[in-house]
Amino acid sequence: MIRFALLGDPVAHSLSPQMQNAALNQMGVIGEYTAIQVDAKSFERVVEELREQKFVGANVTIPHKELAFNIASARDEASTELHVANTLKFGDEVECINTDVPGFLAALGACDPGTALVLGAGGAAKAAVWALANEGWSVRVWTRTPEMAHSICIWDNVVAVETPDVGDCDLVVNATPVGLKPGEVPPANWAQLKEGAVVFDLAYRDEPTDLLKLAANAGAKVIDGREMLVEQGALSLEWWLNKTVPRDAMRRAVGLS
Ligand code: NAP
Repeated sequence: MIRFALLGDPVAHSLSPQMQNAALNQMGVIGEYTAIQVDAKSFERVVEELREQKFVGANVTIPHKELAFNIASARDEASTELHVANTLKFGDEVECINTDVPGFLAALGACDPGTALVLGAGGAAKAAVWALANEGWSVRVWTRTPEMAHSICIWDNVVAVETPDVGDCDLVVNATPVGLKPGEVPPANWAQLKEGAVVFDLAYRDEPTDLLKLAANAGAKVIDGREMLVEQGALSLEWWLNKTVPRDAMRRAVGLS
């Protein structure tokens, strides 16, 4: 039996265990993926215990992605650039990678670079902004706490904006938690969405968010955050198992067709 964990606080709501266990099942791997709630002061101890118990690796979610980066002694380029990691592998040493970045780009799919607006300036926004800037997008960042935008506007082609104006944007990414609850839509002048724009909502529920419904009705192409969830999880599993991971069972497990 090979074992994996999700470490975060809270983790009870997470779709990752059902998604990763569905992949293990479909692959015929005798394994188990469990969510473990852990607070910041216990994080290092719990990681050590998992290593001793021969867990293969762990995904890491809010609020421990920075701790995960700090604990690792070998890191990939994306985690090194962003100072946050969402995947740990346990062996003689603890290694980390950031699969949010390639997971975001895989979910975005083939899309000619243009002007993007990213709402929010937390960990997910940082991954999206870096990924887009590297792909040649001109990126605007809006956040309700202006000081936070400056910690993210550190790459070429990334600027802070004072208002969440979607009017001339080819891509709008919601990287705030607004939309996790029914009835919530992130602040922006959505009625001004440009024809043919793409709206990518990183906040996800077990059905499309209100923002995705609104954007689809306005004729936009929409991308559900569960697409990124599946991709980042599959990339973690591929790194741990060194095998290609089929996406279909994972997609079904999170309610995507
Ligand atoms: P985070 O680090 O806590 O950052 C949240 C950001 O949203 C901050 O900039 C925060 O601004 C802003 N914000 C919070 N409430 C807001 C409101 N009411 N109005 C406007 N802005 C608000 O969180 P995160 O890790 O970046 O995650 C953000 C969202 O992405 C979450 O819903 C998470 O579940 C989702 N996510 C999805 C995936 C995926 O695979 N689909 C991966 C990672 C994250 P302040 O600094 O002003 O509070």
